[in-house]
Amino acid sequence: MPDASILLVEDERDLLELLKYNLEREGYQTRTAETGEEGLKAARGDTPDLILLDLMLPAMDGLEVCRSLKSREQTANVPVIMLTAKGEESDIVRGLEMGADDYITKPFSPRVLLARIQAVLRRNNGETDATPPRVHQSGRVRVDLDRHEVTADGETVDLTATEFKLLTLLVSKPGRVFTRHQIIESIHEGFAAVTDRSVDVQVVALRRKLGPVGKNIETIRGVGYRFRDE
Ligand code: CA
Repeated sequence: MPDASILLVEDERDLLELLKYNLEREGYQTRTAETGEEGLKAARGDTPDLILLDLMLPAMDGLEVCRSLKSREQTANVPVIMLTAKGEESDIVRGLEMGADDYITKPFSPRVLLARIQAVLRRNNGETDATPPRVHQSGRVRVDLDRHEVTADGETVDLTATEFKLLTLLVSKPGRVFTRHQIIESIHEGFAAVTDRSVDVQVVALRRKLGPVGKNIETIRGVGYRFRDE
């Protein structure tokens, strides 16, 4: 989506300039902020279509900025992609649970970043539709909510109720990473007796039942799971 406006919040000036250059070359409009406070102010002044948010910022860090954005109606639905360093998995998990849409680990290539931005903007557009779709299709997997039916490579797959919910969640947002906690919240509707380990067990069973398509459910070490966007 060229023309979309992207707010860049990053305190490393060289990286900020590089991001700005690459995004503007693709036709995006950009604004920049070098601190969390500036970023919040910019987001509230003129709501952007997407925010690229560095986690490690001086004073107010990226997680605080994210929490603040998500707590205000005006900015709650603006997608956020976090920029993180290796080894920040626990912060990534917290950010995702706070409502960030995705993250990308430094160093990253401009090509990968642009693909992530496009995927998030595309998903976000879909979410604003009045009625959520009753059929989810991603690559070779199709989930039909009305018929309660799953097919992989055209073959019907028998799933338990929990596996069905798990697959529906992942396939509804291809490419999006879900933390184990988010999966538990979504598929068990608040029953607390479910552990992270049981999510892993469900994923293993689901992968096996899906056959060759099962490998599209990717484990993101230390963070969670996602259905690969094909
Ligand atoms: Ca930084």
